[in-house]
Amino acid sequence: MDISTLADSVQGPVLRPGDEQYAEEVAAFNLARQHTPDVVVVARSAEDVSAAVRWAGERGLPVGVQATGHGAVVPITEGLLINTRGLDELTVDPERRTARVGAGVKWRRVLDAAAEHGLAGLCGSTSDVGVVGYTLGGGLPVLGRSYGFSSDHVRSFDVVTGDGRLHHVETGDGSELDWALRGGKGNVGVVTAMEIDLLEIETIYGGGIFWPGALAPTLLTVFAEWVETLPEDFSASIGLLRLPPLPDIPEPLRGQFTVHLRVAYIGDDAEGDRLVAPMREVAPPLIDMVGRMPYTALDRIHMDPDHPVPYEEGGILLRELGPDTIEAILDQAGPDAECPLLLVELRLMGGALAGDRADAVGGRDAAYALFAVGALMPPIADAVLPAVRRVVAGMAPWSTGGSLVNFHGIPGDDADRARPWPAPTFERLQRAKATYDPANLLRFGHAVPALDPA
Ligand SMILES: Cc1cc2nc3c(=O)[nH]c(=O)nc-3n(C[C@H](O)[C@H](O)[C@H](O)COP(=O)(O)OP(=O)(O)OC[C@H]3O[C@@H](n4cnc5c(N)ncnc54)[C@H](O)[C@@H]3O)c2cc1C
Repeated sequence: MDISTLADSVQGPVLRPGDEQYAEEVAAFNLARQHTPDVVVVARSAEDVSAAVRWAGERGLPVGVQATGHGAVVPITEGLLINTRGLDELTVDPERRTARVGAGVKWRRVLDAAAEHGLAGLCGSTSDVGVVGYTLGGGLPVLGRSYGFSSDHVRSFDVVTGDGRLHHVETGDGSELDWALRGGKGNVGVVTAMEIDLLEIETIYGGGIFWPGALAPTLLTVFAEWVETLPEDFSASIGLLRLPPLPDIPEPLRGQFTVHLRVAYIGDDAEGDRLVAPMREVAPPLIDMVGRMPYTALDRIHMDPDHPVPYEEGGILLRELGPDTIEAILDQAGPDAECPLLLVELRLMGGALAGDRADAVGGRDAAYALFAVGALMPPIADAVLPAVRRVVAGMAPWSTGGSLVNFHGIPGDDADRARPWPAPTFERLQRAKATYDPANLLRFGHAVPALDPA
């Protein structure tokens, strides 16, 4: 393959298998995915992205995009991989309360830069993910019930569509591109930067509480009743957690099955304590870390891994959490289950996440997002993906039929690929795909099949 025209037209390195930097640039956070594209461009500018997409389009080569590899649902085994981590621009405008964020920027940098002005962006459970990749999938923040999806707070996108053209898209401009970028994942182009709202948040009431896993049946039952009493802007989730016996994990959790309640609330401490009391009263916890915390410390709430791991994941949206739903979850991941999964969690939806909006986000109608993930560590590695699939399939009777694209895991057959979006949204996204990526260059991951826009 002759890459000289590409190398001449971009600033960043162009790499082929065997080149020194190639392995580093294809490496994904999810170590279970080994990308082996024919060519990698480490983009340094929007013009690099544009030139790379044009070059691939002229040769009919598929294009993959990676910032961090947190969402590497499938391996990119051919064509061109655009690594965006060099698109590292970050400017905070404290007057307008916005940040302009390059496609390679992770949440950690945004949180720290915004905090200097008493501001905050709507980050999810870990600040290690890429802001753009996360937001293109809607982006479910820890404060989701207070503020909605992260994509509800995008002001503009700079995006290179399948023809290599760079567009500036303002939110609310009425274009299909704007609509499809807010929740449609990377289907209609490669985003090079975006401008997001920042909110006046410095501290929150939040954190996690751990109990012994034997209490899972009681805790899930109380949780289901408790969430009904919470105000709309109180965010909560509960996880059935099996941490491995690794030395860097603190003693009461190391190698143990525990239940992990996570909360995030913008109200005051007294009200937070009052609201959490019914859960605290269930039983003495192993660890209780809920209280006032700097927003920049939000990684403490979920305590997601901060270093690359091999894993498989899957998710499904639930419309209810009744006794039979709880029983089904316990059958798969409760104290008596032989469960190889690291985590089976329920995130409470609703509040500002609900309602109708003109965008491609799925899941606004759900009561809960269920997510299952397992680390591919011996001796249980082979059991993980089947267990993820069992949990997801087992929840079908209580599902809305949907999933959140950011938590969906490997897209399966046609029906499964459509699951992250309500049917009319999926069809509209397919038409947008046909308009903005007619040659289907962006065909990896959560790509939707194009539908003739006519
Ligand atoms: C530990 C962990 C915690 C998480 N917590 C949350 C959470 O709380 N809320 C939530 O919503 N999600 C969460 N996620 C899911 C995460 O948002 C997705 O995996 C997201 O895709 C990560 O984006 P990335 O750019 O970091 O990953 P990458 O793997 O680099 O990108 C994933 C995909 O996003 C698309 N993409 C990325 N950049 C671009 C671009 N510039 N233009 C077009 N398409 C692009 C591509 O399709 C790419 O394949 C979590 C994931 C992990 C591993």
